[in-house]
Amino acid sequence: MEVYVRKEVQAFEYVSFTEFKNEDELDFCCEKLKKYVSIVKAWSGKIGKFCIVEKDVLTPIDYCPFCGEKIEYISVE
Ligand SMILES: [Zn+2]
Repeated sequence: MEVYVRKEVQAFEYVSFTEFKNEDELDFCCEKLKKYVSIVKAWSGKIGKFCIVEKDVLTPIDYCPFCGEKIEYISVE
């Protein structure tokens, strides 16, 4: 699946990443990930990736933990 990410620099050191598309428009690789993202706040604006959230620990994912498909993060200007 492809996730479009827009990098936003608010100040010299503060950078945040915004999902280019919202959840409804995003083409999820599988229903499980779609469900996970809607239940857990899985998008990290700091990292710019979807994350597996365990308590306060965010682990960014490059592959879907449910179906194994690669998640491509494509930056958009
Ligand atoms: Zn998947």
